[in-house]
Amino acid sequence: MMNSIGIYYAYWTREWDADFHPYIDKVADLGFDVLEINAGTAARMTPAERRELRSHAADRGITLTYCIGLAPDCDIASPETQVAQRGEACLNQISTAVGEMGGGKVGGILYGAWPMTLPAGDTDRRPYLERSISIMRRAARVAADHNVIFNLEVVNRFEQFLMNTCAEGIDYLNAVGAKNVRLLLDTFHMNIEEDFIEEAILRAGDHLGHFHIGENNRMPPGYGSIPWTRIAAALRKIGYTGDVVMEPFVQPGGQVGADIRVYRDLSAGLDLDSEARKALHFMRGVLK
Ligand code: MN
Repeated sequence: MMNSIGIYYAYWTREWDADFHPYIDKVADLGFDVLEINAGTAARMTPAERRELRSHAADRGITLTYCIGLAPDCDIASPETQVAQRGEACLNQISTAVGEMGGGKVGGILYGAWPMTLPAGDTDRRPYLERSISIMRRAARVAADHNVIFNLEVVNRFEQFLMNTCAEGIDYLNAVGAKNVRLLLDTFHMNIEEDFIEEAILRAGDHLGHFHIGENNRMPPGYGSIPWTRIAAALRKIGYTGDVVMEPFVQPGGQVGADIRVYRDLSAGLDLDSEARKALHFMRGVLK
């Protein structure tokens, strides 16, 4: 299989904002093809800073992909018009910024805020979905104008309420009906919500635009109980040639540790760089 393999920068950081330049060199030296960075940070950079980042990545043969969960005050599913409008502006700003960098893939919780629960007292998520879908239709057109693909990440129930399974994600995509809005599946979340991970991948089929990998406890691939061989077979079956990006979270502390709820040090006794290299080799073996 010809998948490019990547890693999310926040494996190494305790804060979401970061200078991505050192991580371009690090992941290139480790042998990765892709570095996934924070779309929000990229959107706040100056055009000159974005140009530098883009050319550094190109020099090192690294493809950048982008990820974000919308902040609660930028939630396109919100009943508060101003909040939803801010969310739409945020998506458009990201599309413009990523477009400046040559376009590409923006993934994550773009359809609502992260983390977010169905507000207390509400039992029906349909109004939230309807608001999200109608804004997503417009935002997708802006994204397309900037050569951007939105990959909507299906996450577990403890992090979002709008879609928790691949089937729910497909329903949302069908309602939006835009070619540049696709699905992002993540083995960590699928392990919690799907009956069978392989079936979810097969169901996603051509809708799958991006793929996150991590163990059941968000350790790097190769440590836990995720069925990697069966996952690779399912990806092969649907002809998935897109990126496979690992997203391990192993360090407590900072905003990253707090948001991801890393309360124990899963990195104890481990060297982060050599673990990343090991996981890369493991996945190359699994995906070949
Ligand atoms: Mn993910």
